[in-house]
Amino acid sequence: MGAIVYLNGEYLPKEEARVSVDDRGFLLADGIYEAAPAYHGRFLRLAEHLARMARGLAAIRIDCDVTPLAEISERLLAENGLLDVEYAMVYAQVTRGAAPRTHAFPAAPPPPTAYAAAQPLTRVPRERWERGFSAVTVPDLRWGRVDIKSIALLPNVLAQQAAVDSGANDAILVRNGVALEGAHANLFAVSGGTLLTHPLTNQVLPGITRGLVLELAAEVGIPSEQRSVFLDELRAADEVFLTGTTAEIRPLVTVDGRPVGRGSVGPVARRLYAAFLETVQALVGAAR
Ligand code: PLP
Repeated sequence: MGAIVYLNGEYLPKEEARVSVDDRGFLLADGIYEAAPAYHGRFLRLAEHLARMARGLAAIRIDCDVTPLAEISERLLAENGLLDVEYAMVYAQVTRGAAPRTHAFPAAPPPPTAYAAAQPLTRVPRERWERGFSAVTVPDLRWGRVDIKSIALLPNVLAQQAAVDSGANDAILVRNGVALEGAHANLFAVSGGTLLTHPLTNQVLPGITRGLVLELAAEVGIPSEQRSVFLDELRAADEVFLTGTTAEIRPLVTVDGRPVGRGSVGPVARRLYAAFLETVQALVGAAR
């Protein structure tokens, strides 16, 4: 059975979903997206994902109520047989709609185009996780408001491809000597027992997993500081890891070919991953 997707008020087979070639998402990347994880049919922090999307839409002045997306997301899991799978994701995207191409907003605002789809995700097997991942640093070529989850992802695409081209798993975006985040994940370092991550500014995405990881760190007694992490500090860090909806907590054991710390997964990443998995377990358990 093929995937069922949501498009502008309808649920339909993905291959029947059609968007106009005049859609401003297609022509101008004029839109906002969101991706939220679900574990055994239970969303992790869906309200926070939708609140971030609402903030993004307001910031770029697309008038669209995201409230229905909660129910749409639940229904997409059900329609696609994803209520019982361990790990899945709903992707949602809203664009400014279809109108003859102009840079400024269309004089007569079209209805926004709203699309959502669900898909299973595969968690990295534990043996693979234990080996850790590699990253390369790349210059951050993104715009000045990456706190907005815009669908314009070309710099992120090129950064991730640079990682692939150099045989690494992930990219770390660096601007003015500061290691900001990954191409699709937030970045943490551990130095002298303290967890470090960039503060929430216009230079990083306010990741929902990032927020959860900071809460978990506080719960398990790991001190954290939100401040700029310079590339030389990152290189000297004891541990480095990424966080995100698809990354969960992803330990990096090499950066630019050099080992991070001892070159193996560290105790802080391991402790936080255990706490993260407990949170997921509690979420799933509560539903049973
Ligand atoms: N940073 C960037 C650039 C991202 O694209 C993402 C997720 O897509 C994240 C961070 C992590 O955010 P979240 O934890 O909400 O998935």
